Order: sequence, then C-alpha cells, then structure tokens
Amino acid sequence: MTRPPFDPFTPADIDLVSAQLGRPARNVVGIAARCVCGAPTVVATAPRLADGTPFPTLYYLCHPAATAAISSLEATQVMNEYNDLLAADDNVRSAYERAHASFLFDRDQLGSVPEIAGISSGGMPSRVKCLHALAAHSLAAGPGVNPIGDLALERATWSPTVCVCLDYFAEASAGESRSAPA
Ligand SMILES: [Zn+2]
Repeated sequence: MTRPPFDPFTPADIDLVSAQLGRPARNVVGIAARCVCGAPTVVATAPRLADGTPFPTLYYLCHPAATAAISSLEATQVMNEYNDLLAADDNVRSAYERAHASFLFDRDQLGSVPEIAGISSGGMPSRVKCLHALAAHSLAAGPGVNPIGDLALERATWSPTVCVCLDYFAEASAGESRSAPA
C-alpha cells in the first residue's frame, strides 16, 4: 500500500495495468497497491487528466480478480447493509468522514483541482455507492482508514495476500476484454 508521494513505477507496470484494464492506462501517477507477486492491484490517476478533465477517482481497482470479487459482493445486498450501518453507527460514520478527508488529503498532494474540491470517491463521506472505489482506497491506505472499504475486503473472496494473477498479456492478445470503467 502506498499513498502520495508514490514510489517510482516502470513502463512494465503501465503495460500490466493496461492489460488488466483492457485499455491503455493513461495519466497514471503511481501504483498504490500491489498483489504479493508485485502485480498492480490499485492504480493512482492524476486529479486532472492530460486533456484537462477533472478526475476525482484517485484510487482505482485495476486487478481483474479483485474487481470481479467486489462486483460479486455488490450484487448482494451488502451496499444496503453498509448504508444502514453508516446511518446507525456514529463511530463508523465518523470514521467514514475521516476516510473522505484522508482521501482528499492524498489527492491534494498531486495538485489542486477546484472543480472536484471536496468530492472524493465511492459515495464518501455519507453514502456507499461504489465498493470498488472504497476497496481501492483501503488497499492504498491500509487497514483502519476506510471502514467500509475494509469491510468489503474482509468479505470479498479475493485477497491481496493470495496471488491469483493470470497471464494478463496472454488474455489481452486472445482478444478478451472487460467493460471499460467510466
Ligand atoms: Zn499476483
């Protein structure tokens, strides 16, 4: 797990993320988390893209197995459960608000983008809207920062400590692709 300033990354990292995503990875500023094998699990993107577009989603889950596991989780009623938890538990809500502030602090290290000031990711600070974004934040920041991301990772069938990486380049050349994220 890494937060800004990110460690240097290599062209091979970018190639791997691109193969994972099935599209060219652009505006990458760091690899925020990795599998035990070293493959990226979370890619960090600049808060303003090269074409000028503001981009709030600093931490993006790029690992296909992780993405699939979180998608399976989202397909259950777990987001309703987490929204209920936020509504009912003052401690969780406070921690989630701190996670929001922590996320914004990280992103601000990479430059101020007024259009997205105060806007973080995944529904923070008051709702749970995307477990992929929240899990990505937890993987980047480490346990104890994002309570909902932590819960999602605990329940997911994928773990960053158990490598299930495929040969992404073979997959890509076989013409396989997955839906591109927004
Ligand atoms: Zn791996």
